[in-house]
Amino acid sequence: MEANKQSLNIEEVHWHLGLLQNLDVGLIVMDSQYQVHLWNSFMSNHSGVGPATARAESLFSLFPDLPAKWLRHKIDSVFQLKSPVYITWEQRPYLFEFKSQRPITGEAALMYQNVTLIPLTSPSGEVEYVGIIIYDVTDTAVSKLALQDVNAQLQDLSREDRLTGLYNRGYWEELLEQELSRYLRNQEACSLIMLDIDHFKAVNDTYGHPAGDEVIRQIAGLLSKHARKTDFVGRYGGEEFGVILTGTNASQAETVAERLRRAAEMVEVEYEGQSITVTISLGIAELQPETQNHEQWVAQADHALYRSKENGRNQYNVFGHG
Ligand code: GH3
Ligand code: MG
Ligand code: MG
Repeated sequence: MEANKQSLNIEEVHWHLGLLQNLDVGLIVMDSQYQVHLWNSFMSNHSGVGPATARAESLFSLFPDLPAKWLRHKIDSVFQLKSPVYITWEQRPYLFEFKSQRPITGEAALMYQNVTLIPLTSPSGEVEYVGIIIYDVTDTAVSKLALQDVNAQLQDLSREDRLTGLYNRGYWEELLEQELSRYLRNQEACSLIMLDIDHFKAVNDTYGHPAGDEVIRQIAGLLSKHARKTDFVGRYGGEEFGVILTGTNASQAETVAERLRRAAEMVEVEYEGQSITVTISLGIAELQPETQNHEQWVAQADHALYRSKENGRNQYNVFGHG
């Protein structure tokens, strides 16, 4: 009797799902032993495994490449909690490794999939089967990924560093080159300050990366606040910044550097109830007639910065002095 009732139910399910056979969606019905009871044409066409073969075996012996432990856990939870589970391609690009057959998405080799697991309950309310629905979302995924790629390229093309709002490295280096050319034409003094937050790894380690980001933002804010209209502040690397001071010789740049050093020391970054303080080390290089290119100019300021680190940090040094 029991077997009879079961086959009746699955037949009913079969009727309903039979109507969906021709849809561009994968349908699998399985029992709690992961035994396949229904395998639609989408699944046959993409996997090369026909319904008769599929029904003869458990899903995991049919497809040894499936993430068995993870998927078992999901299926078991549908049986136990009697509620559906949704898995998007962003969480896991695909469940079944199917080739993408969409001509317009020629560049995507594999089919991206959204997967829904639904409980199929008997009239008594027990979950007897779990239905797995596989949606081919390759087009959506590919266009979203392409958009992300374009956004990243636009970010590169833009002048702004996303975290701090300062000039990003690429654009800031263009400004360096521009100031170098201007200097070669009119010989008006121009200095560069490179600065780096001291022991910043310890900030990340102690307070976490988001707290570190907030420190970077606040130091960036401080640099912007102190900059004149004719100065250019850029984020050179993680926690390293560069300030181009036009119309400024090395000794005037020293005054600026000392002001920045003190201001940084005074900053208290409040993060989740904790107060974080840091110091910065700085290096100054004034443009010289023999400066070849902007890389050399940065290297000179970096050299002075390195001396500040070596001599105990929280200080500035000038390239060519001492
Ligand atoms: P030093 O005084 O010699 O500069 O020591 P340091 O610990 O600051 O050493 P270093 O400059 O080599 O380390 C910089 C660290 O900054 C390493 C990296 O994990 C971290 N970092 C780089 N970029 C970011 C970022 O955008 N956010 C956060 N939170 N950390 C970053
Ligand atoms: Mg550092
Ligand atoms: Mg650094």
